Amino acid sequence: MTQLSRRLDWFEESKIRKMTRIANKYGAINLSQGFPDFDPPKEIIEELQRAAVEGPHQYAVTWGSQEFREAVARKQERFMGIKINPDENVVVTCGSTEAMMAAMMSICEVGDKVAIFSPFYENYAADTVLCGAVPIYIPLKPPTFDFDRKQLEEAFKQGAKALILCNPSNPIGKVFTREELLDIAQIVTKYDAYVITDEVYEHIVYEPHKHTYFASLPGMFERTISCSSLSKTYSITGWRLGYVIAPKAVIDQCKKVHDFLTVGAAAPLQRAATVGLNFGDDYYKELTKIYTKKRELFLSGLDSIGLKYFRPDGAYYVMVNIEEFGIASDEAFAEKLIKEIGVAAVPGSSFFKEDVNNYIRFHFAKKPETLEAALERLSEIRKHF
Ligand code: GLN
Repeated sequence: MTQLSRRLDWFEESKIRKMTRIANKYGAINLSQGFPDFDPPKEIIEELQRAAVEGPHQYAVTWGSQEFREAVARKQERFMGIKINPDENVVVTCGSTEAMMAAMMSICEVGDKVAIFSPFYENYAADTVLCGAVPIYIPLKPPTFDFDRKQLEEAFKQGAKALILCNPSNPIGKVFTREELLDIAQIVTKYDAYVITDEVYEHIVYEPHKHTYFASLPGMFERTISCSSLSKTYSITGWRLGYVIAPKAVIDQCKKVHDFLTVGAAAPLQRAATVGLNFGDDYYKELTKIYTKKRELFLSGLDSIGLKYFRPDGAYYVMVNIEEFGIASDEAFAEKLIKEIGVAAVPGSSFFKEDVNNYIRFHFAKKPETLEAALERLSEIRKHF
């Protein structure tokens, strides 16, 4: 038989999605793949019901319906503090997963290098492979997950064309400080490179930390491709609505990728979600409050059980240290946790380039009763491990 593409040999099935599959098989409480088990805001659902009856049911404009793009531009102008033209600076995508891919394909030629902080959300490595680029990893060192400025600069000396910046970060919950971002800005300016951001957790940041949009730093709009989505902000991960915000020249490229890859995001969902984009500031304050409570509930539960973890400053994940259990493989640990304890987590190694296997990642985007049930099961952990 003719050889299938070898490019795909570089990666396997997503570990996050795999853990969800195993969790479902064993009926475990799924704290692996990060998505809520509570409903989206009712105003969005009511609009979806209207859209089901009144439409639209046919294609929206390829790069996003006018009303949706205008709403994205208005909302992001407010939060990012920069001018965004809905016709020139926005492409609506099928989730930020497509946004990141479109961003990468828009700037990378085969063989180009891309800098990625490690640990990282697993899609980024796959994205580089899919567009024929080569990743250069820069370690974020525990326990503070700071980066070494020299190591970052080295990646650009080696020719990195872009840096992927997940902020607030999945999986470690790092919120990059303004100073760190200014350091990055200085380096990318010196080496004339781009920054591709993944800012899907932009509204899930815990006091006293603050989210700084990279594109909002002086002079950085021109070299930033900002990717985000509505999944986490409005609890609609299954709707697959995301977007890219960037200078016109980059957006023109992204439009081409998007046009031929997916044609467009679902029209009735764009209509319904526009209602969310038009929410006032109270909605985002309330969201932060809700997640702050979830973080306290889950982390204090882990404290009572005596599990060690890195305290997240943003996003809704926590990396738990499993070293004390003396299991060499975090994957074996995570599978045993599903089967014997009934709680699913993601093996930490799937996020690290380095050989690290003493962490598992939980997420806490769940109802309080789900988190309490998971904690109760986890309290039995020492009887099994
Ligand atoms: N971003 C989420 C996570 O890390 C979900 C990823 C996905 O499956 N699209 O768990």
